[in-house]
Amino acid sequence: MRKGIPVSPGVAIGTAYCIHQIFVNPDTKRLEDSEVTAELARFETARDLTAADLLALQHKVESQVGHDEAAIFAVHESIMRDVAFTKKVRGWIVDDRLNAQTALHKLLDEYTALFARTKDDYLKERVNDVRDVVIRLSAHLTDVTRPETGVLPGPLIVVADELLPSQVVALGDADVHGIVTQAGSQTSHAAIIARSRGIPAVSGLPGILRQAKTGDTIVVDGRDGNVTVNPAPETLAAFRKLEREFFNLKDQLIENRDQAAVTKDGVELNLEANINGLTDAQTAGATGASAVGLFRTEYIYLTHPDVPDEEEQLAVYREIIDASPNGSVTIRTLDIGGDKTVPYLGHSHQEANPFMGWRSIRLSFEHPDFFATQIRAVLRAAGEAKTRNGKVRLMFPMITTIEEMRRVRAIVRRCYKQLQIQGKPCAWVPVGVMLEVPAAAISIDTMLDTVDFVSIGSNDLVQYLMAADRDNPKVSHLCQPLSPPVLRVLKNVIAACRDANKPVTLCGEMAGQPSAFVLLLGLGLRSFSMSPSFVPSIKELATHLTIDEAEAIVTKVMKLKTTMQVKRFMSSQMESIAPNLKLLETG
Ligand code: PEP
Ligand code: MG
Repeated sequence: MRKGIPVSPGVAIGTAYCIHQIFVNPDTKRLEDSEVTAELARFETARDLTAADLLALQHKVESQVGHDEAAIFAVHESIMRDVAFTKKVRGWIVDDRLNAQTALHKLLDEYTALFARTKDDYLKERVNDVRDVVIRLSAHLTDVTRPETGVLPGPLIVVADELLPSQVVALGDADVHGIVTQAGSQTSHAAIIARSRGIPAVSGLPGILRQAKTGDTIVVDGRDGNVTVNPAPETLAAFRKLEREFFNLKDQLIENRDQAAVTKDGVELNLEANINGLTDAQTAGATGASAVGLFRTEYIYLTHPDVPDEEEQLAVYREIIDASPNGSVTIRTLDIGGDKTVPYLGHSHQEANPFMGWRSIRLSFEHPDFFATQIRAVLRAAGEAKTRNGKVRLMFPMITTIEEMRRVRAIVRRCYKQLQIQGKPCAWVPVGVMLEVPAAAISIDTMLDTVDFVSIGSNDLVQYLMAADRDNPKVSHLCQPLSPPVLRVLKNVIAACRDANKPVTLCGEMAGQPSAFVLLLGLGLRSFSMSPSFVPSIKELATHLTIDEAEAIVTKVMKLKTTMQVKRFMSSQMESIAPNLKLLETG
């Protein structure tokens, strides 16, 4: 049994499906003499397909973003055409009888070792370009982006280093019951995706890809982060019982789908959903959310092979709005950077501090045409939504200063006027700030007259307040939403918004965690946006609690000094408030 970080609650048992095995366990089987020619041909075909991809990307990025950005793909093409590169791979296929993937793996190892020795940082980073090319080639050789999960008996437990959004999309409707990743933590995007699908998940397990192999039986316990590979029969039986309880609880809770969200004393709450795409929007409706409180639009870009233009984006927004509960969606503009990179936006070169660097709104400001395209598409989608009684709001991530917010408003105004002049149907939308930078959170009272609403992005706010990377398991003990300093900041923000009568929501992952929800309620919050799969349990939890009770809990918690004290206290409170929901808590 290994212990990692529990990131999505529940218990799941299934057959291991290890992703990206090519980079972890290269195939050591040698080719037969008769297979060599065919393997060389396969490699050539993969090169042709990769070259075609890269060329198409170059053209599209050049015309829609810029020459410098497109140059990255030209570099990748030249790496792939490099004589030394191809000669080595061909040589290993012919002389050592390696298959093409294994040869590429060996090449990547060799380059990594070589580049690691150089003291030049720029050169060191070039290994990432080689890696990109190798991944692209491998995808054509092995179809790793479209795993053949159908050949394995489901349910499956996906085991990966870190799940990329494109891989999650590729897994599609496969019968995935659990996710285990080597990297990542509570708020990494693999975790968020797992939660939005209601799939138990554990992250932060380095080396698990070496311990587990495809076909093994794996138990994932998303409550405390335990993962067991090939458990003994009695352990398996105990977990099967828990798994059944988990499914029963979920089935039972989903029945509150059509009920309003109200506390025990009848105070109405707004429970909205965070979504990354169409499937999540549909889940939001199915689980009983009243709206979409956060649509992370970067997933359009991350899963799109090139730059989506205005019409393509409009089509996506239209589809999402139509699928969302009450046609009501808060759209967040592109939030690239940090852990989410798009090569055509100039992110091929690693920054020393990506989370504090050129990300989100900072990057959007430097690509004004690109930014305007997104805003125009949103305003047009809002116009269409209005005719169908839908409601669209627009919010901006990583806002740090009032000047940025003013600049954003001016850009939205310009886009709106432009569309009107062009005679394109559109609608004005409420413009909001995502509060995730401490500077903005601390001075929120001074920023309120520049915004129509506030959405607290606690995933980032917590990592910045605690100076602890949300994706680094080594500092996850610090990156805690229930820590006293975080609670103090949240208290002030919620109070400032309420005093000024500004609508305020919290859309970080903590909104769906039972203990955190109780505290937020006691701090005066009435609107929450969470992974859709958490809506039923939070709706149930609300019915067990009055506002007075939540406020009394907050009064006690605000006197505690450490995160551990808060967690212990909340755990005992949850036992008495709603013991049946314990199975749905993580950590
Ligand atoms: C947040 O930071 O709290 C948030 C909701 O945005 P993301 O998780 O996409 O950074
Ligand atoms: Mg964020």
